[in-house]
Amino acid sequence: MTRLRPTVAEIVEQTLALYEDLDFSYVRAWKSKSTSRRAVGFMPVYMPREIIHAAGMLPVGVMGGGDRLDIIKGDAYFQSYLCHIPRSTIELALSHRLDSLDGMVFPSICDVIRNLSGMWKLLFPEKMARYLDFPQNFDPALGGRFYRQELESLRSALSELNALPPQDSALTHSICLFNKNRRLVKALYDLRASKPWLVPTYEAYLLLRAGNILDVEEHTQLLEDYLVRVESEPRKPMDNIRVIVVGSFCEQPPLGLILTLERAGCYIVDDDFVLASRWITADISKTGDPLEALVEAYLKNSTFHSSKFEGSTPKWRHLIEQVKARQADGVVFAAPSFCDPALLDQPQYEKGLEEAGIAHTTFKYAENTGQFQNIREQIGTFSDSLKLWSEAP
Ligand code: SF4
Repeated sequence: MTRLRPTVAEIVEQTLALYEDLDFSYVRAWKSKSTSRRAVGFMPVYMPREIIHAAGMLPVGVMGGGDRLDIIKGDAYFQSYLCHIPRSTIELALSHRLDSLDGMVFPSICDVIRNLSGMWKLLFPEKMARYLDFPQNFDPALGGRFYRQELESLRSALSELNALPPQDSALTHSICLFNKNRRLVKALYDLRASKPWLVPTYEAYLLLRAGNILDVEEHTQLLEDYLVRVESEPRKPMDNIRVIVVGSFCEQPPLGLILTLERAGCYIVDDDFVLASRWITADISKTGDPLEALVEAYLKNSTFHSSKFEGSTPKWRHLIEQVKARQADGVVFAAPSFCDPALLDQPQYEKGLEEAGIAHTTFKYAENTGQFQNIREQIGTFSDSLKLWSEAP
């Protein structure tokens, strides 16, 4: 029987429901299908999800509580001069919304996430909690060797969780599934850049967020359905400017803020939202040692980012290349308040953009920001002024 593809409206409805579900009902339902099923959460920014998947588990991206969670206990664990995501993540856990997760992985991104991993171990000693360190040295013999040891250690911890020995063949299979998923996410981003009126970022973002929760094959199918269906949506180009949003890689802006940027006259043609889905920029090798393939992908094909050492090419050069490749009119720095990695990089980005004559503007947010009027006025003015300048003789 031929499968009927869901409509764009149905896909948006499904992904919005997943986004709003702070009880992770999908994860509970997925686990209920077999007593041997396990789910392992991971914090932003990047996680080699293939390793969790190959262990027969569901990788679940945890991105805080957004603007729909009241912080009752979480604030007591962190100083007021830190970003919001650690307190809302603690709140999710203390309110038992993360009970379906059998473990958590905290990738190295900043000191806040490192502290959160320590706190997790104290609060939930019965659950697996791992800090996953990424190399800042990209020599295969040094950083590569170190990262391989990290991945081997994570693999062993997962193996203990479900009492199954790691299988290379399973890891290769998972690599193939995630390669396909990444290709479709790339196709989504490329389509949005070429026809931004067809793919609103509101919808693209919800699709990415769904990939944090859904089984990878289900998510891949959803992306395929959307890409096919959206082509026939009756959407017309508008007089918007094209911008790249930078700085929102960890604590995510509220959905209403993304909508506000679009309504203020911007087509977002690239961004660093939900970066784990696009961290690896090329297919991971499906031949040879699969663990080595993951290491090589990280060393050679991972995107530029604030918590990653820039090597010989400054990050602002990557950003300028991105502006050119996406034919963007300007850059919007949108970083969470108190996000050290994003805010420390910002002056370098700004200097590089100014030297290259690329317009930019800046604001800060928190995941629970509720008022967008100021941002709408600021971005609306940015958009209008760019249109005026570009039309000036
Ligand atoms: S938002 Fe920034 S400071 Fe906060 S946990 Fe994420 S990377 Fe660290």
